[in-house]
Amino acid sequence: MSHPTRPVAVVSGGSRGIGRAVVHRLARAGHDVAFCYRDDHDAAGAATRDAEAEGARVLPVRADVTDPEAARAFVAAAEHELGPVHTVVSCAGIIRDKPLLMMDTADWTRVVDVNLNGTYHLCRAAAFGLMKRRAGSIVTLSSVSGLHGNAGQANYAATKAGIIGLTKTIAKEFGRYGVRANTVAPGFITTDMTAHLSGSNAEALRERITLRRFGTPEEVAELVAFLASEQAGYITGQVLAVDGGITL
Ligand code: NAP
Repeated sequence: MSHPTRPVAVVSGGSRGIGRAVVHRLARAGHDVAFCYRDDHDAAGAATRDAEAEGARVLPVRADVTDPEAARAFVAAAEHELGPVHTVVSCAGIIRDKPLLMMDTADWTRVVDVNLNGTYHLCRAAAFGLMKRRAGSIVTLSSVSGLHGNAGQANYAATKAGIIGLTKTIAKEFGRYGVRANTVAPGFITTDMTAHLSGSNAEALRERITLRRFGTPEEVAELVAFLASEQAGYITGQVLAVDGGITL
């Protein structure tokens, strides 16, 4: 059933970490939100309850973004249950860190499949609807690793650089239809993805960050929500870092 007074957002990887904060922040900003996740039902349930507490209608969907059919079905379910999609946020992402000479093809391919192909599948599934309605905002998740490279992350950095090219191209192709596309490049954010960085490793990293701390998922979600909003109506094709100054 459609609900014309509330914009609808689809978020991949919305069950944990940055995606979960995005789902919550968009709900607080007045969106109804469909999000997908791969397999953590408990986390998806918690994210759903969180966002529903903000008065939003929330649709959790189990969908693997590496599968184009699953991405299409996810967007179709969002449109069917919540209404026409306005905001698309691609958060689903993984790491399989190894130095290049230790990396096997499976590590390379899996990261490309989830991060880069998954972002493409989600954007591809939603793009025609946004174009038809001549409105919408796409926000993708890159990383400072995609901007500058990072030893041990050849696969991850390549996908995050690829996402920048994809997003800028979407901005150019869809700008004439009133659809904007931007990418957010976080630095080190406290989530499960960075949980392995502890003790002296984390301390050494913090020393490299201008603000001397990791960021929070909420700090990234704040920028995503801004980019989705009317207030960002003249911003497209940009890469915006939320990195505590690590790239200075
Ligand atoms: P996270 O805490 O590990 O959460 C990852 C999310 O993606 C989960 O909801 C997970 O669902 C979902 N996901 C993973 N594979 C999926 C698949 N194949 N299909 C659908 N959903 C899938 O990660 P995060 O730290 O929040 O990162 C979110 C995004 O920000 C990623 O793109 C990441 O590269 C980017 N980023 C993060 C950092 C950082 O420091 N954390 C820095 C720069 C960029 P399940 O639990 O069900 O698998």
